[in-house]
Amino acid sequence: MRNFISTVLVLAVTCLTVDLSVANSKITTPSEPRDVIIASSLQPYVFEFHGLMYDSGIEINYGSLVMIRFSSDMRSRVLGMAWGMNHNTTLININSRLFFSLSHQERRLLIFHEMAHDVFNLHHGSIGLMNTPMPKHVTKGMVDSYIVELIKHIKNGR
Ligand SMILES: [Zn+2]
Repeated sequence: MRNFISTVLVLAVTCLTVDLSVANSKITTPSEPRDVIIASSLQPYVFEFHGLMYDSGIEINYGSLVMIRFSSDMRSRVLGMAWGMNHNTTLININSRLFFSLSHQERRLLIFHEMAHDVFNLHHGSIGLMNTPMPKHVTKGMVDSYIVELIKHIKNGR
């Protein structure tokens, strides 16, 4: 009887392990980036985005390289560019001539928007977060609701 119970337990554990590996194989296996360079002023927003996704069960595949930096060499009205979109890297440039005049909520919206382009390959107009240009008045409630919508969108397979 004891043997039977332990066999059942082993089977149960095996099934659980198999289920997990099947579940994981459906998602692209996140690879550890070899190099991560994020400008210090951008880190709070990148880390918040990562944390929000992580807490909702979304593991981000950043690819082999992460570079999220400022550029002073961007067109005057462009806030950011996600060069890593559709590539196995995360490469984002943020316009240093515009970023520091943005409010905290505008910065959140900008970084979350560029991250969604880059790591989820989302296009403009797909969800509220991907609307462009940036709205005139960006509130915390707006950005928070965009994040909720993004999470639903990613979980539903886009
Ligand atoms: Zn965009």
